[in-house]
Amino acid sequence: MSAVLELTKELVARRSLTPEDAGCQTLMAGRLAKLGFEAEHLRFGEVDNLWARRGKTGPLLVFAGHTDVVPSGPAEQWSSEPFTPALRDGRLYGRGTADMKGGLAAMLVAVERYLASGAKPKGSIAFLITSDEEGPSVDGTVKVVESLEKRGEKMDWCVLGEPSCLERFGDTLRNGRRGSLTGILKVHGIQGHVAYPERADNPIHRVAPALVELIGTRWDSGNEFFPPTSFQISNFNSGTGAGNVIPGDATVRFNFRYSSAVTKDELKRRVHAVLDKMGVRYDVDWRPMGDPFLTSPGDLSRAMQDAVEKTTGLRPKLDTGGGTSDGRFIAPTGAQVIEFGPRNASIHKIDECVEAHELEQLVDIYEDVLKRLLG
Ligand SMILES: [Zn+2]
Repeated sequence: MSAVLELTKELVARRSLTPEDAGCQTLMAGRLAKLGFEAEHLRFGEVDNLWARRGKTGPLLVFAGHTDVVPSGPAEQWSSEPFTPALRDGRLYGRGTADMKGGLAAMLVAVERYLASGAKPKGSIAFLITSDEEGPSVDGTVKVVESLEKRGEKMDWCVLGEPSCLERFGDTLRNGRRGSLTGILKVHGIQGHVAYPERADNPIHRVAPALVELIGTRWDSGNEFFPPTSFQISNFNSGTGAGNVIPGDATVRFNFRYSSAVTKDELKRRVHAVLDKMGVRYDVDWRPMGDPFLTSPGDLSRAMQDAVEKTTGLRPKLDTGGGTSDGRFIAPTGAQVIEFGPRNASIHKIDECVEAHELEQLVDIYEDVLKRLLG
């Protein structure tokens, strides 16, 4: 079995339900130490983080990712135990194989192979690994980045091994992500009997026209790298359960996935304007989940596109789709950030898996990127 599959299996067997790391980072740090990396284990709150660097000079190329995984869901629905990695028909099954222990294994094996080949990197290599990406993401990458900034340690290029490909391995490279902004809208009314509406104030009737307007609003047109901003209502709760009672309040939970053509403050202002215009009595609890970020095409994206094309025959397109990622914490430091990893069709699902040959090709791609950027 190839080195990358062996290491992926070892990582998947460690049951690292977010925010647990379950020893994954110690395993990685041990192998990195043999290559001359200096490892720092940074624990914030409940979260284990690893910063390991080899070399003192710039430029600095960072491989980043997370060891935590989402819960397996009902284990009996899996074809094999979620935390017992199993190779069947050329695929490795198990929670975290695609998101993203396969990516972690590929970056580590790529660095091992690159250095074993006698390379003399013109610059430094580092790993930034957290166990808080699938959770609240408050004690993970963001805290490590703060520590690095405080001591003036600057990243130039960052490769995240998140599963980025859609239909075919090699088709997609992420050079940014949309922002995410959640709002919890509490609408205030006055409870009463349905037969006496003049003595009550129905919060559902109050908010419905405002929601229609919000749903129909075009927030922006997106731009070259981002699709237009989307607004979605995810929960609407009201009512006492009785058929003859006008409820006293209603709660609406909604989320924006927004482009870099708007700001979260502008979105908030426009939501308030609609609600105020309609005379709704309300409070909104705003929960910003991450600003959008974008890495303009440059030497990192070009090196990755060239490497992917050389290995797979596909030239990946630059894309900003998908959910948020830890790239949102790294990009604001000025580093170029891109994400490239296996296909993401099975992530967070029952029977998560990764194609063995994709992981082997991913090692080739990361090693090629190292050569292109550091010589
Ligand atoms: Zn992930």
